[in-house]
Formats: sequence, C-alpha cells, structure tokens
Amino acid sequence: MTRRFSGSALVIASHNEGKVAEFAVLLAPYGVQLRSAAELGLPEPEETGDSFRANAELKARAAAESSGFPSLADDSGLVVTALDGAPGIHSARWGGESRDFAFAMSRVQDALADESDRSAHFVAALCLCWPDGHCETVEGRVDGALVWPARGTRGFGYDPMFVPTGHNLTFGEMEPEAKEAISHRADAFAKLVKNCFDAK
Ligand code: IMP
Repeated sequence: MTRRFSGSALVIASHNEGKVAEFAVLLAPYGVQLRSAAELGLPEPEETGDSFRANAELKARAAAESSGFPSLADDSGLVVTALDGAPGIHSARWGGESRDFAFAMSRVQDALADESDRSAHFVAALCLCWPDGHCETVEGRVDGALVWPARGTRGFGYDPMFVPTGHNLTFGEMEPEAKEAISHRADAFAKLVKNCFDAK
C-alpha cells in the first residue's frame, strides 16, 4: 500500500534553486506549500548511495528527519549502455569541478570511440519521505541515442548529445515543453503523483 501525502507543507530537499522552482510548478495543482532545504538551513548530505534511488532516498530521509516535515528529493543522470551504465550516478561529476558539460560530453564521446552501440537513457528517481521514516520512491526513464557533434543550446547537462527514441531533434534543440512532455523527470513525477498526491 502506498502512502498518500495529506499535509500542507513539503520540503524540497535540494539546495538548487532551479530544482526548487521546477518542483513548485509541478506541485502547484496539489495545494502544497513548499519550503526549500536552503531556506530551512538544512545540511546537504553526501550522495554516498550506489543507485539513483538510494541517493534520492538518503537526501529525502535526511531532510524529513531534520525538518520534521515530509520531504521530496530527486537524483538523476545519463546511463550509457556500452559504458556499463556510466556516467550514471556520477553524471554531474563527469563535468569536473566547474560542471563543464561540453567537457563531460567529450568524455562520453571519447569513451565510445570504439563502440557501435550508441544507446543511452536518462533516469530520474524521486523520493518522498515522512519524518517517521516511511518513504515512497519512483523512477522515470527516457530512452534514446547519443549523437555528436552536440546540437542545440537549450536544456542543460547532456541534452545536446541525446536524441530521444522516435524523434530527430536532440533535447538541446527541442522546445522545453516538448522535452518536458517525454522526459525522465516527467515520467517519474507522473508516477509519484499517481501514488501520493490528490489534486486540490
Ligand atoms: P543531480 O542534480 O544529482 O540529479 O545531477 C544530475 C546530473 O545528471 C546533471 O548534472 C546532468 O549532468 C545529468 N542530467 C540529469 N537530467 C538531465 C537532463 O534532463 N538533461 C541533461 N542532463 C541531465
């Protein structure tokens, strides 16, 4: 049995203002008052998990315990088939200290130099934890293929080298609404809403 969210306040367990703003838009129909981890001065736990799911859970659990409110966290990344799933949970780190994704994309391209399989997918895990330790976790996914040279200036991260299955444009070339309709985050969010939220 999944647990449904019945409170009015929810903490977004992220210090990234962009993510907090994105969740604010997605959660607007559910009458939830959002607080960010930064606003509440919550510590940022180290992402020591070995999966997207584990990292989302450890962030949501830590925020729920220290704030006393239900808390929502996410973790996401690019999974490349021929690289045994790399960069995976290390997707952000492949951009180095300065999070340079032109550099991260060239690392992926170099690593695939001798491979013919260009398939990859993005994964997003979302976890909602309550202060009593109960957690609901879901995972979303979008499949596609990697291309280079990278194309497009929209989006972020690895978007310019990812063409979702059934499309010709990269995520970096698509209108934001078109990406949002099929993205791993949208898929995960739809699952979370189905399991845990009621429209207000
Ligand atoms: P997170 O903030 O720990 O979830 O880091 C996720 C990392 O995965 C980002 O820094 C990007 O490198 C990559 N990533 C996740 N989602 C996307 C996406 O939608 N487009 C491009 N890159 C993504």
